[in-house]
Amino acid sequence: MNTVIFWFRNDLRLHDQPALAAALASGATHLLPVVCLPRADEATPWGFARVGTHRRAFAAAALRDLGTRMAGQGNPLMVCHAPPATVLPALAHAVGASAVVCEDIAAPFEQAEVAALRAAGLPVRAVWHSSLIQPEDMPWPAAELPGVFTTFRQKVERAGIMPTTPLPPPTSLLPPPMVPPDVMLAAGAVPACAGQGADTAVPNNAAGCDPRSSFPYGTSACNGGETAALAHLAQYLARKLPHSYKATRNGLTGLHYSSKFSPWLASGALSARQVFVGLKAFEREHGANDGTYWLWFELLWRDYFRLLHLQYGPALYGARGLSQLPQAPHNHQGFERWCQGRTGEPLVDAAMRELATTGYLSNRLRQVVASYLIHDLCGDWRAGAAWFESQLVDYDVYSNQGNWLYIAGRGTDPRGGRRFNSTKQAHDHDADGTYRRMWGTA
Ligand code: FAD
Repeated sequence: MNTVIFWFRNDLRLHDQPALAAALASGATHLLPVVCLPRADEATPWGFARVGTHRRAFAAAALRDLGTRMAGQGNPLMVCHAPPATVLPALAHAVGASAVVCEDIAAPFEQAEVAALRAAGLPVRAVWHSSLIQPEDMPWPAAELPGVFTTFRQKVERAGIMPTTPLPPPTSLLPPPMVPPDVMLAAGAVPACAGQGADTAVPNNAAGCDPRSSFPYGTSACNGGETAALAHLAQYLARKLPHSYKATRNGLTGLHYSSKFSPWLASGALSARQVFVGLKAFEREHGANDGTYWLWFELLWRDYFRLLHLQYGPALYGARGLSQLPQAPHNHQGFERWCQGRTGEPLVDAAMRELATTGYLSNRLRQVVASYLIHDLCGDWRAGAAWFESQLVDYDVYSNQGNWLYIAGRGTDPRGGRRFNSTKQAHDHDADGTYRRMWGTA
């Protein structure tokens, strides 16, 4: 018997899963699929949980769906309540696994997880598959990414580079090995399937059903699983919403002003290439317009921040980012008021209340609140990024870090940051105050 461990990370899906395909083609006879949940008490250096309850609830739903799909193919997903460096070497030893295969994630925390496994003597094969376009297909070496997004986009478009075709889900999985009960117990392992709470730290789903939420993740339409993700993509296209995307994308409330692909893209329940294929089929049937183009444009932003990580890695995480700007001081009380929506600035406070209550916030308001923390409160951008990491159901390490750096003027863009005037933003996007009244700040 030759077992391979497949470690699910931010790729909680079976469609377009090159890393899983590599594990299945590795020559192994058995497959042990595992996911490791972060501890509920894992805190950021800023004194709050790294993964808040919204993210936990959304991920738990994704795991239940994935577990059910995998159990249907005879190999249930094992959910472990312990860090990978503890769990995976013990499991590998118990089942005689020769290697771990997983998604490659180019961010420091995630790289350290893999390094710890290798240091423990476990061979790890990390497969890159989260971007729309594979980094090696770009028309420049990884270290020569254009410093300005527009130049990047134009070079990609002029070179005519297209994403590769997404893989179909595997038609069958290898059988699971027998895992001794004492090893299961030590790993805090439970099978993930319908009806089973994959994450015991998830309190309840009431917050996910708030009627004011633009992404009510507690409802079946916004459930975290791959099944709901693919259904959401299908209905978004069937309702011809790509055509109106550019006109509505700066909205503040409601499910359909923007695509809402991000929560599923972030957990990996939906692959960006699958979205692209759907979009191209939509254009062939219903025609391309500036709305369909703008969706591609935004997905390129997502790729850009991934490539930025491949080039600069941990340098993106220092207080100065890539800049020579002095480090901003951390004002604990000001930051607390910002998190709680009590700064006294009505649009900012409404947005921060929405974020904490629902786990989602429009792109426009993410820009406004990030700018306010950085340029008005003169606070440390890293604390704001960490708060988003804790709260957002669509937290994505690359997009979050990249956008915060961009607004702070500490990334590669030479224009030195983005400042949003919240009074003007309120006038432009919430002229009659509906949004601010909804969140009790007007
Ligand atoms: P749409 O407007 O429908 O866009 C379609 C897709 O394009 C999105 O799903 C997303 O994958 C991509 N996209 C759109 N805008 C951006 C952008 N500015 N940067 C990168 N990708 C983009 N996005 C995340 O997915 N996770 C994060 O943690 C995150 N943190 C952010 C932090 C700040 C300070 C800011 C300003 C933006 C952040 N974004 C993040 C980007 C953006 O706000 C969200 O991707 C978007 O609001 C998600 O909603 P949507 O899927 O309806 O987007």
